[in-house]
Amino acid sequence: MRIFDPHIHMTSRTTDDYEAMYAAGVRAVVEPAFWLGQPRTSPASFYDYFDGLLGWEPFRAAQYGIAHHCTIALNPKEANDPRCTPVLDQLSRYLVKDGVVAVGEIGYDSMTPAEDRALAAQLQLAADHELPALVHTPHRDKLAGLRRTLDVVAESALDPQWVLLDHLNETTVKEAKDAGCWLGFSVYPDTKMDEVRMVALLQTYGPEKVLVNSAADWGRSDPLKTRKVAEAMLAAGFSEADVDQVLWQNPVTFYGLSGRLVLDPPGKETGATHEGNSIRRGGE
Ligand SMILES: [Zn+2]
Repeated sequence: MRIFDPHIHMTSRTTDDYEAMYAAGVRAVVEPAFWLGQPRTSPASFYDYFDGLLGWEPFRAAQYGIAHHCTIALNPKEANDPRCTPVLDQLSRYLVKDGVVAVGEIGYDSMTPAEDRALAAQLQLAADHELPALVHTPHRDKLAGLRRTLDVVAESALDPQWVLLDHLNETTVKEAKDAGCWLGFSVYPDTKMDEVRMVALLQTYGPEKVLVNSAADWGRSDPLKTRKVAEAMLAAGFSEADVDQVLWQNPVTFYGLSGRLVLDPPGKETGATHEGNSIRRGGE
């Protein structure tokens, strides 16, 4: 079984996670830029983070046989902080880089006017750079948030077929699908979607344009949720081809819109370094 986790924050995870993910079949991940769990205090903090998503983290993933790409954006939460919004003017210099396969994660957190501006501006950046967009939908007021998101997408220059709406659930999936967007579901240990609900949604809506992710980060989360959904699909009678479509082909097709996806499994390079540093912290 081959698995592509299309939304996981590996910067917050350990090398044990990489080993367990590889053993579970994970061969590719996309890491969206997001917040740190506490506020950043200046745009410079973003630039070091973005450089890490493009440098150190893909290097680290490669040591465990996993292809790593990222998405770059000002995240919805920090779009409200005037100390952070100048980063919007610097995103273009990251969006041209090879490892960036989408603009994201963008979208709404609290649905403020500042979030409106950041979402519209970043959808325009995606259109300008011919990149797809990963759009986070709010955890509260889900249906209102989804509708407002769809309105902004409809007004943007970006085709809905280039938009992945993430954190969907039973209340938002139908309108997201009717709009022609890709459908993302984050499966967490005890909030949002779980494996059983995910399988029920797949039975109702089918596997077309559906992506499942762990969205694992610094909070309570499980980087093996993709594998657990695959097993729950097989137990419910889905074919191996269906599982491959949801857990591999759909993410490949969506992020492949960027023209930048490189999925040759990177070799595990024992002793390799990135800018002179190794995962052994110099203790060779
Ligand atoms: Zn995320």
